[in-house]
Amino acid sequence: MKKNVTVIGGGFGGLSCAALLAQDGFDVTLLEKLDTVGGRARTWAEGGFTFDMGPSWYLMPEVFERYFQLFEKERKDYYRLLPLDPYYKVFFGEGESAPLSPRQEENLALFESFESGGGKALARYIDQASYKYEVAMKEFLYKDYRHIGQFLNLRIMTEGLRLGIFKKLDKFVGSFVHDRRAKQILEYAMVFLGTNPIDAPAIYSIMSHVDLKLGVYFPEEGMAGAARGFAKLCGQQGVKLITGEEVVKIEVKGDKAIGVHTTKGFYESDIVVGAADYHHTETNLLSPDYSSYSRSYWNSRVVAPSMFIAYLGLNRRLEKLEHHNLYFAKDWNGHFDAIFKHPAWPEDPCFYLSCISKTDSTSAPQGGENVFLLVPTAPGLDDNTAQREQYFDMLLKHVERVTNEDLTDGLSVRRLYSQRDFIADYHAYKGTALGLSHTLFQTAVFRPSHRSKKVQNLFYTGQYPHPGVGVPMVLIASEIVAKVIKDNYAP
Ligand SMILES: Cc1cc2nc3c(=O)[nH]c(=O)nc-3n(C[C@H](O)[C@H](O)[C@H](O)COP(=O)(O)OP(=O)(O)OC[C@H]3O[C@@H](n4cnc5c(N)ncnc54)[C@H](O)[C@@H]3O)c2cc1C
Repeated sequence: MKKNVTVIGGGFGGLSCAALLAQDGFDVTLLEKLDTVGGRARTWAEGGFTFDMGPSWYLMPEVFERYFQLFEKERKDYYRLLPLDPYYKVFFGEGESAPLSPRQEENLALFESFESGGGKALARYIDQASYKYEVAMKEFLYKDYRHIGQFLNLRIMTEGLRLGIFKKLDKFVGSFVHDRRAKQILEYAMVFLGTNPIDAPAIYSIMSHVDLKLGVYFPEEGMAGAARGFAKLCGQQGVKLITGEEVVKIEVKGDKAIGVHTTKGFYESDIVVGAADYHHTETNLLSPDYSSYSRSYWNSRVVAPSMFIAYLGLNRRLEKLEHHNLYFAKDWNGHFDAIFKHPAWPEDPCFYLSCISKTDSTSAPQGGENVFLLVPTAPGLDDNTAQREQYFDMLLKHVERVTNEDLTDGLSVRRLYSQRDFIADYHAYKGTALGLSHTLFQTAVFRPSHRSKKVQNLFYTGQYPHPGVGVPMVLIASEIVAKVIKDNYAP
């Protein structure tokens, strides 16, 4: 008889782990509380607009290609990828903006225009980022860390020094470039990792290799389209995908999980994989005796930002914007302080604004624009309706000042989404959008474990354990976890 695995949660973490385990010969059932799979990567449709609700930057395409190759499949048979040109456009305020291009010589020229020698500095910076990326892919990312000795060994300490694990990113970037705009372009991606460039280890300079060298892509039907591709693969592998059914308890006997209770019934399980919010699984689905981490552990974590998001449907085109747009405030440190040090709704917020209708004409009615506006915010802020509306009004004026585009003109569809929605929809800890920040002590072996410390057949994938935040990282986590389960339980 095949051993059965129950996967809790149908985001990229749950889907990618479920398909791998089914291929390894397990009988896999995936339970998702929402009505669709995809998790944070799902859509909301209204008035002819289809919004990608969560992730929108398709980065590190090779991780996705590798994942499908594990099944001897090709990614293109599940969803198509379109390269973006420019990769993204940056607004610096006071009417200044610049595109970041797939043609490196244009980016070098841009950095040279910021400061004398800036072009050469960018080239050197990308070279070191590319080196670190190659080493990280080979030595760090696909690794199953079980104890601190694996991390603090001589080889990693030596490589780690070279890779900049023990330096801080902001200082490191400052040793290459001095201009504010140049620094911001090399540091902004820390928001993807839910961290602050001042605290992030310099190894995360690999993110500049990721965006400026590997490139930025768009899956033809958005990130939710890519998630549908993963669901299709699950179906082909024989995974039972069950939506609209929430897990309410993991039943444990001795030191073994024997099944999960849902809002509708009980699923006997030989193995359970938690792919929902880790804190929720540990504290709400397990009794305290079986939690691996204490309340004080969670209280002492640096939680990644939440987000204030506006999904906006406009019945006109926005000529001054590209597919991906970013605004970097002059007071860069102040922006991060409002998230990590003195939590408050940011007053001159950095924002991300995407118009996927520039690339995907099906995402908006003809002549319209599909706008996604996002401000990273501190987790745990008060998020009531009056506060949201007030913030939204301020934000629209701010966007107009920065980009010269009036988003109230032609606005026909709108929805605001923030902290309390992350909690209600995903059981997100403190309303975080991204889980745990990537500080040094929340990197690699210091992230929550892939295995429960108390329940021997309970495992975790998703954005909380190593390697961490972002869709490619989550696929890597699933590959690590599926291998551990295969090695220990496969027929
Ligand atoms: C707005 C936003 C923008 C982002 N941008 C990017 C980006 O551009 N590029 C990128 O790579 N990453 C991005 N990310 C991060 C990326 O989306 C996540 O790291 C990744 O999708 C997490 O996948 P996951 O499977 O771990 O979690 P999720 O996608 O949250 O999936 C977990 C699932 O578990 C379900 N669940 C929770 N509790 C239960 C329960 N008790 N029973 C059953 N099901 C349950 C939830 O409903 C959810 O569907 C972004 C995230 C957000 C929110």
